[in-house]
Amino acid sequence: MIKETVSGIRLRIIGACSKIDRDPSKIIIVAVSKTRTTQVIKEVTEAGITDIGENRVQEAFAKYNELRTMNYELGTIKWHMVGHLQTNKAKDAVKIFDLIQSVDSLHLAQEIDKQASKINKIQDILIEVNTSGETTKYGVKPEELTVLINSVSELNNVRVKGLMTVAPVVDEPEKARPYFRILRELKDKINGLSTMNHELITLSMGMTDDFEVAIEEGSNMVRLGRALFEG
Ligand SMILES: *Cc1c(COP(=O)(O)O)cnc(C)c1O
Repeated sequence: MIKETVSGIRLRIIGACSKIDRDPSKIIIVAVSKTRTTQVIKEVTEAGITDIGENRVQEAFAKYNELRTMNYELGTIKWHMVGHLQTNKAKDAVKIFDLIQSVDSLHLAQEIDKQASKINKIQDILIEVNTSGETTKYGVKPEELTVLINSVSELNNVRVKGLMTVAPVVDEPEKARPYFRILRELKDKINGLSTMNHELITLSMGMTDDFEVAIEEGSNMVRLGRALFEG
C-alpha cells in the first residue's frame, strides 16, 4: 500500500515540476517517520525511499538499532534530523545522522563540530531559518543568517549544505508560498556573497500540506509524514 502512496506522491512532484520546468529526479523525499514504527520504515524504504527523517535523537537511535538487530540492510538509508537539537544530544546525533537539518545557532554548530571531530566525521548540516517570524518556531532570523553561516563555515568538521524552514500552518498551501520564497531568496543571496567558499545546494522545504508549492518555489527536499503514512 505504501508503494502506491509513494507512486502517487512522485506523480504530484512531477506535476509540480512540470509547471516550472524542473527535473523531478532532483527532488529528494525525506520520509518523516517520527512516532511511527520501524516496520513502516522498512516498508517505505522497500518502496524506494532512501531518506528517513526523525525529530528526536533518542527515538531515532532506538529505531536505528532495532533495524540493525533485525539485520535490515541500512546501508543505503540516509538519516535526517529534522527536529530541534539540544546541545547535549549532539554527541549521539553525529553518530547516526547523515544530515542535521535543524542547526540554528553557532553554539550548536560548534558542539556538533566538536563531537564530529572526535569520530573523524564531517557532519553535513542545514541551517534552519524562521522565515515566518513566529515565536513558536525554531530557526535563525533571516537577518542573522549571513553572520551565522560565515562563522559556521570556519568550523572544520561541519559542512553547511543548505537551508531548511518550516512554514506556518495555513488553511491553503498557497498562503505558505511567501515563506518558501524567502528561503530561496536567502539561498541565492548567500551564494552570491564573495565570502562564501562553497555553494549552498539544498533547500529543505515543503511538508504534507504544502510540498507542491514549495517545489514551485525551488525546494529540492520535501519532508513528508502524513502524506506517506496516512495517505
Ligand atoms: C513532522 C515533521 C514533518 C512532516 O510533517 P507532515 O505534515 O506530516 O508531512 C516535516 N518536517 C518537520 C520538521 C517535522 O517535524
